[in-house]
Amino acid sequence: MNDLQHMLSDIEMEVNLTRHLIGKDVLDHRVMAAIKQVPRDEFLPADFRFLAYEDGPAPIGYGQTISQPYIVALMSDLLDTKSTDTILEIGTGSGYQAAILSKLVKQVYSLEIREELSIQARRRLKKLGYNNVTVRTGDGHLGWSEHAPYDGIIVTAAAAYIPQPLIEQLRVGARLVIPVGLPYSYQELMVVEKMANGEIEIKNILGVSFVPLVAGDAKTKDFGG
Ligand code: SAH
Repeated sequence: MNDLQHMLSDIEMEVNLTRHLIGKDVLDHRVMAAIKQVPRDEFLPADFRFLAYEDGPAPIGYGQTISQPYIVALMSDLLDTKSTDTILEIGTGSGYQAAILSKLVKQVYSLEIREELSIQARRRLKKLGYNNVTVRTGDGHLGWSEHAPYDGIIVTAAAAYIPQPLIEQLRVGARLVIPVGLPYSYQELMVVEKMANGEIEIKNILGVSFVPLVAGDAKTKDFGG
């Protein structure tokens, strides 16, 4: 087995171990095909490339991480995408999750609060030919109203609460996949569906651990690393 095949089988094993929580034995084959196509090593700094096909998170600088492949696959599955969708991602980071989504949908908009990461991700995605991803620097709590409503929104940092602008920018019947909880503590991965009457329906999926979704004015405080 090569590294990528190892990673795919680790994802399948995790899916199997958590099948009672996530309510399925296997993930959408479109998602697994996308994972197979995107070279994760291209999204890591040179010093950490040796971790590219391990099923774990890895550092990308500025105290941030590229998410665990199993979690990327699970969240992509929970978004329930179609090839005609327009998706908003909050927390571009390395751009890896955005690259996976770019294989699954028509257009991806991605917001990253740390300018350096946003510039790097934009450059990387362009170089690798993911032309249907648009990255912008900004605070995801506010969403990106210009391209709304979205057919799905994915947040890849832990929010303290569900930001109302994201609900407003979601199409009726569409889903927001978001980890909600305390910074560096317990967080719950939630699937939030917007109903026709504007109400939301929340499903808790499983406990996760993400870096925090920071407020716009706090973004410079934890630079470094
Ligand atoms: N999806 C990323 C994982 C990123 S980690 C990947 O595939 O690599 C979470 C990212 O969210 C970090 O890059 C962090 O800078 C960013 N972030 C934190 N708070 C944010 C906010 N309020 N708005 C947008 N991005 C934010």
